[in-house]
Amino acid sequence: MNATHRKVVIIGTGPAGYTAALYAARANLAPLVFEGAQPGGQLTITTEVENFPGFRHGVQGPELMEEMRHQVQRFGAEIRAETVVQADLGARPFRIATDQGAYTADALIIATGASAKWMGIGKDEELSRQGGGVSACATCDGFFFRGKEIAVVGGGDTALEEATYLTKFASRVNLIHRRDRLRASKAMQERALKNEKMVFHWNKAVEEILTEQVQTPSGEKVEKIRALRLRDTAGGPETELPVQGLFVAIGHKPNTELFAGQLAMDETGYLQVQPGSSRTAIPGVFAAGDVQDHVYRQAITAAGSGCMAAIDCERWLAEQGLAE
Ligand code: NDP
Repeated sequence: MNATHRKVVIIGTGPAGYTAALYAARANLAPLVFEGAQPGGQLTITTEVENFPGFRHGVQGPELMEEMRHQVQRFGAEIRAETVVQADLGARPFRIATDQGAYTADALIIATGASAKWMGIGKDEELSRQGGGVSACATCDGFFFRGKEIAVVGGGDTALEEATYLTKFASRVNLIHRRDRLRASKAMQERALKNEKMVFHWNKAVEEILTEQVQTPSGEKVEKIRALRLRDTAGGPETELPVQGLFVAIGHKPNTELFAGQLAMDETGYLQVQPGSSRTAIPGVFAAGDVQDHVYRQAITAAGSGCMAAIDCERWLAEQGLAE
């Protein structure tokens, strides 16, 4: 099968990927953008975004991403609903395989973002996949827990944001944090601490998710969460907390598996770029957004780094005589 060739391929459609596509398209580079498994990225699973400049009344995450998509398409970027499954950065041009086809590219912008982390205690990820009452996305699944008692694990902004949002549905939200102090911003803490539907469990770690077999209306048997076994990290006794739902909000991991062994990463898997730029160690490969940023991780910083990647890419192509 003949591979389709493009000057610029962009992997990812979060704020970084779309902004890179916008700049590359306006520079007449006709970029090809692969959507990946989560079109629109992490903002599509949030609600109100209040800190993206230009929206004085805030904007819904999915709406913001839809606007970006249309803006990018207006300038001729092509967006394909394909997921990259392999990238060979040792070849020139670079070789890219998706779940649907084969491509080559002179330059590559990686904007694959990051995904929610699981606790690694066995059952959490498994139960989330089979509708067992565990989730990493309150806006996606909060509705299913109307009138139920649930728990949220984590002490950062994500955990408090999710927990606060979930109080709209749940009868009670138990926030479980492994320390006695939250990591979240002061504003977020103040809002959460005065929410009457929230109960804070300090110095507690989930040791085990306890489940039961439940029959669905269609007669199917599914394993559902019924309680959490909690360890006291300050040395107190173990306790059991009955809950019907669990939201895991303990941070994110970068989506860099495709590039293992090809690009330099830090110890947690984030791509390394040359300071003050989007350039990786491989000329012609650029990285933008959460995939290379474990510090700021904001939509606006991702968009900014997407812009940097497109400009770096355009200059590199021009230097190589590949821009025309
Ligand atoms: P963070 O890394 O900031 O916080 C992760 C939290 O989970 C920490 O409290 C951490 O505990 C806890 N944790 C980590 N691993 C485990 C584990 N294995 N078991 C139990 N607890 C664990 O991630 P967030 O996703 O909360 O935030 C990421 C970034 O995004 C931050 O910069 C944040 O400010 C930003 N953000 C901003 C928002 C906004 O402004 N509206 C909304 C959401 C996120 P410990 O504290 O002990 O390390």
